[in-house]
Amino acid sequence: MVDLVDRAIVVGGLEHWGFGKKGYVALDDARLRRSLIPRLKALDPDLDLAKEGYFRMPPEGDVKDAFPGVGVRALEFPRWFVCHGCRRLLRAAEGLENVKGRYRHTCAKNKMASAVPVRFVAACKRGHLVDFPWVAFAHQDREGGTCDRAELYLEEKSLGDVARIFVRCSNCSHQTSMSKAAVLPYRCNGDRPWLGGRAANEPCTEQLKLLVRTASDAYFAQVVSALRLPDPDPDIVRLRVRDKDVWKTVQNVTSEGELAMLTKLVPHVSSALGSFTGGQVLAAIAAERDVGNAGRRTAAPERGVRPARERAARPPGPRAGAGRAVRGLQGAEPSYRPASGRAGPRGRARAARGTRAGELQPVRLGEREHAG
Ligand SMILES: [Zn+2]
Ligand SMILES: [Zn+2]
Ligand SMILES: [Zn+2]
Repeated sequence: MVDLVDRAIVVGGLEHWGFGKKGYVALDDARLRRSLIPRLKALDPDLDLAKEGYFRMPPEGDVKDAFPGVGVRALEFPRWFVCHGCRRLLRAAEGLENVKGRYRHTCAKNKMASAVPVRFVAACKRGHLVDFPWVAFAHQDREGGTCDRAELYLEEKSLGDVARIFVRCSNCSHQTSMSKAAVLPYRCNGDRPWLGGRAANEPCTEQLKLLVRTASDAYFAQVVSALRLPDPDPDIVRLRVRDKDVWKTVQNVTSEGELAMLTKLVPHVSSALGSFTGGQVLAAIAAERDVGNAGRRTAAPERGVRPARERAARPPGPRAGAGRAVRGLQGAEPSYRPASGRAGPRGRARAARGTRAGELQPVRLGEREHAG
């Protein structure tokens, strides 16, 4: 959730990444992919990563020419606004006017005021993020439930004291204090606003919890990072020299004369190296010899993911549901992973060695790769 000057948004999920004609820049890394797939499967057997292009650079939007098809789309959330003038609480579609990107409310005849996104939303343990159930909440203890033509106002009688914030319905005069929102008797509707549209809802039976959307505990990112050393461009002469049979024959060559002799007499040397100049081949032999002397020819480390580290977020606390909600922005919704819990054999081993329950430890993907 991001707070802009007059609007609040959630950053769109991967479905909302538009790459345009240029396509995407892939950041594929097979070992990181392998280490993530079991964790996705643990969340949902249907989750998987594509065969190619599974990690991508985010698309760059063009500030000067904001075209909705390119860049990362953001979606308006929450959908409820409060009028600065009259404190009317309503959805944008229910009577706000969009004037140059800012919402305005007509409080009375000839009186307009700006409306800002309401700061309370709701979330559930599974990570859904939903609009606060304003209408039902305002009429929570009313006999007969919600009135026919609810017209809500969010009245703050003192700043910061939740007990003195009321949701009042001017139609039936019923009101509820926000202090009652600590326990909400409402079921989650499974909303995932970062996916956009009603199709984004999924069935959910969890209880809703109040969430202040600007609070620092509203969202915890889970970051998995890896360092990859790309292979240098292969040097074709060195590849030919490195061939086992060729190397046996040429490894002690130090002059163009010797090389010319071997090329003339030994057919496999001729076919491997005949098309290069003597200088090129001598340089390649010298380079290979250097590598051999340094002892790396026999013990070349596997290139790929080098020590990779994972920083996991805090385990879900009372409010952490929302963390998961927005984390789903990344599409695949990896879960919190306490090292002592489900971090795989290594995590369990570490837990057995005395990690406190629930405490998070960095997991070295590199190690896990070798271990597995
Ligand atoms: Zn107003
Ligand atoms: Zn009412
Ligand atoms: Zn839910």
